[in-house]
Amino acid sequence: MGEWVEFGAVKQAVRLEAVLHHYQVPGLRRRRDQVEGRCPIHGGEREDSFRASLSKNVFHCFSCQAQGNVLDFVAAMEKCSIREAACRLQRWFGGRASAEPVQPMPPGRRKVELVREKEGCNPPLRFVLTGVDPGHHYLQRRGINRATAAEFGIGFYGGPGLMSGRIVIPIRNAQSQIVAYAGRAVDGGLPKYKLPAGFRKGSELFNLHRAAATSSKTVIVVEGYFDCLRVHQAGFPFVVALMGTSLSARQERVLTGRFERIVLMLDGDTAGRAGSRAINSKLSGKCTVAVANVPDGEQPDQLAPTAIQDLILQATHEGSVLFGTKANTYVSK
Ligand SMILES: [Zn+2]
Repeated sequence: MGEWVEFGAVKQAVRLEAVLHHYQVPGLRRRRDQVEGRCPIHGGEREDSFRASLSKNVFHCFSCQAQGNVLDFVAAMEKCSIREAACRLQRWFGGRASAEPVQPMPPGRRKVELVREKEGCNPPLRFVLTGVDPGHHYLQRRGINRATAAEFGIGFYGGPGLMSGRIVIPIRNAQSQIVAYAGRAVDGGLPKYKLPAGFRKGSELFNLHRAAATSSKTVIVVEGYFDCLRVHQAGFPFVVALMGTSLSARQERVLTGRFERIVLMLDGDTAGRAGSRAINSKLSGKCTVAVANVPDGEQPDQLAPTAIQDLILQATHEGSVLFGTKANTYVSK
């Protein structure tokens, strides 16, 4: 029998301030309710990567993306499970800590928003997640082969922090620097995707640096990471994902600045079709736009490679727009 512990009670009872004290975390600066300093979880150079709100009893590191409550903090420090973290806290603080229960967060303000990024810009991360497994069965199930996963740096991450127990997908900027990891749940857990607080999707296009490095004047635009991976795998390396269904002004500038032709390949649902229409009208007159009509209820990542190829060729009049006149020489090789 394991040690008995009530997670909720420990989380409520133990103050983050006391835990920071316990670890003797050096160099933390305190301003009113906020604590700021070098991250005790991943170390690092920055003196301001780690932030904690004492009244909310939560922390966040915008370098390693670790965040959460006292249990998450101890689990990350000790590289142990949440359960084990709760047991340790109970052992360290026993009944003492419960003398000062923290105030519950006011409703509507539960989201941890301790990070304010510079306008429009996602700064490069100062670390890389290591020990990522590109052969995880979740990726096999989604039809992503090992070579694609390895090329994109995608895999299952078992380490500590925000991305723990998820498929991590590095998001790189145009200069190929990693600006965030997206974490996909593998077991139906919620949220389906985790992204670091403060990350601006509208400032990036997933896979832009690879698409832009090809010689193609055409770019295929899809909604999600897995759509992008599957289209890439089907033989079209000039593909980017919006990470949604809308095109920001910044994304538009980047795409029309680099490419002459855009093939929209959004999902075959209401949101995808509406997004496609909106983007199409936004781009009219700025570049050539073709729409690949994904069948109702389908999305690119669920289609066979041949179906992806057919859709793209149909959208571009058998490839004449896409590749000049001899489309099939490209696709069939
Ligand atoms: Zn950190």
